[in-house]
Amino acid sequence: MKIETALLSVSDKTGIVEFARALATRGVRLLSTGGTAKLLAESGLTVTEVAAHTGSPEILDGRVKTLHPKIHGGLLARRDSAEHLDTIAKHGIDRIDMLVVNLYPFRETVAKPDCTFADAVENIDIGGPAMLRAAAKNHGTEAGGVTVVIDPADYPRVLAELDATGSTSYALRLNLATKVYAHTASYDGAIAAYLSSLAEAAPAQDATPARKEWPDTLTIQIKQEQALRYGENPHQTAAFYVDPQRQAGLLGNYRQLQGKELSYNNIADADAAWECVRSFDSAACVIVKHANPCGVAVAPHALDAYRQAFKTDPTSAFGGIIAFNRPVDLATAEAVSEQFLEVLLAPAYDGAALALLAKKKNVRVLEVPAGVGQNAFDVKRVGGGWLVQSPDTGSLTEADLKVVTKKQPTEQQLKDLLFAWKVAKYVKSNAIVFCADGMTLGVGAGQMSRIDSARIASIKAENAGLSLQGSAVASDAFFPFRDGLDVVVAAGAGCVIQPGGSVRDDEVIAAADEHGIAMVLTGMRHFRH
Ligand code: 5GP
Repeated sequence: MKIETALLSVSDKTGIVEFARALATRGVRLLSTGGTAKLLAESGLTVTEVAAHTGSPEILDGRVKTLHPKIHGGLLARRDSAEHLDTIAKHGIDRIDMLVVNLYPFRETVAKPDCTFADAVENIDIGGPAMLRAAAKNHGTEAGGVTVVIDPADYPRVLAELDATGSTSYALRLNLATKVYAHTASYDGAIAAYLSSLAEAAPAQDATPARKEWPDTLTIQIKQEQALRYGENPHQTAAFYVDPQRQAGLLGNYRQLQGKELSYNNIADADAAWECVRSFDSAACVIVKHANPCGVAVAPHALDAYRQAFKTDPTSAFGGIIAFNRPVDLATAEAVSEQFLEVLLAPAYDGAALALLAKKKNVRVLEVPAGVGQNAFDVKRVGGGWLVQSPDTGSLTEADLKVVTKKQPTEQQLKDLLFAWKVAKYVKSNAIVFCADGMTLGVGAGQMSRIDSARIASIKAENAGLSLQGSAVASDAFFPFRDGLDVVVAAGAGCVIQPGGSVRDDEVIAAADEHGIAMVLTGMRHFRH
């Protein structure tokens, strides 16, 4: 069936003018919504506004643009049903044979630090998903159906088929329709994750967040982007699959600027480093080994942050993954190049820094462009199934902390405690993290007992020649007994941050008072496995 009419309504206008022009040249009539129509008309194309086509103006600030029987009838009428085609003709509804839509940028909007609730809500697209689902449902049969395009990357292959056959094949329409449902499912997933993060952000002192409704069936469409040499170990095979919703052109969250091919462990460690470093507002550096931070620091400048982070554990930093949340300049590149490193990540690099790094051919240099978002959900493979959860987006401010000891923390201690807490969130449980003055001093990770993590953290600080006297300590979950607290205080801790909530909280608080230190409770736990 020849494609006579196409409706174009896109937020991401990449390539739309060229695509619309190519359609027009092939005799396709163009319908379009406000902003898209304006752009096409300004580019010299003949286009009918949806409002003129339906006779209904766009209303409610664009909330209602395309929600009209003339649109949905035109998309949903079965091409192989004489009755459907008669019905639309009787109602003066034209067939819409191709739909080109991409949605309001919800994920990108909520990823912005200054996003308000109203911004988020207005960026929930309604008409777009409705049309996409209608068009995808009616992708039809061999005899004909609606062609639905959500990804500008698909424009060329659609045109190639139009040129070859004057129409689109069933195989292409089916593939494009499949993409649509994966996209709308993930779009709604992002909205659900955002809304549930609002509920979680409310003080959750004793309350467990309301049980979240997860869909009965979860469709995850992932695309193989890179075959990997091997998995965690050389005898395992592996590949990297990416989320089709990631920013276009990226390998996951990254653009590799140079260096050897990324390995399975590189990607996993880079992810851990990036998740941690992005959580800081000030310039920060995170060094990761085996998915755990082995040095984290904040400072006015990225270079100082690196020097401090490195001091925490120079032994483990060897062959590490180093991440910055600020652009890397020449001085910083020089400093990191003094060490053996596997991967370097940052939002950007100076030209001089890149020229220097180019001499270290093996180092994988990754750029993480601004605006890469939070995953809508976490998935973990277990025997016979998958565990799915919303990501741990919980974060705290000073106002959320409850001081439970006679000793009140000073302003500086509060700052150090919040820093330590942030780091502990990214350390595998049981996590104990000693910090002072915006840097980690000792990190105890991944032990089966909290007391062992505490011992390891203090041994590591001692090995690195760092004093723990008066330091701030974070524990990712409560102290089940006072013994763990006794260990951190004996090592020098002057203040402690922990969730609280143990049946022996009283015993632990009494121990803190006995030692004369300050302790604050967060009411939030950060297990990470
Ligand atoms: P434009 O820039 O053309 O004015 O708007 C394009 C965007 O509007 C697309 O992202 C499309 O998904 C969205 N859209 C189209 N129709 C409707 C509608 O009826 N309601 C809402 N909320 N969004 C729509």
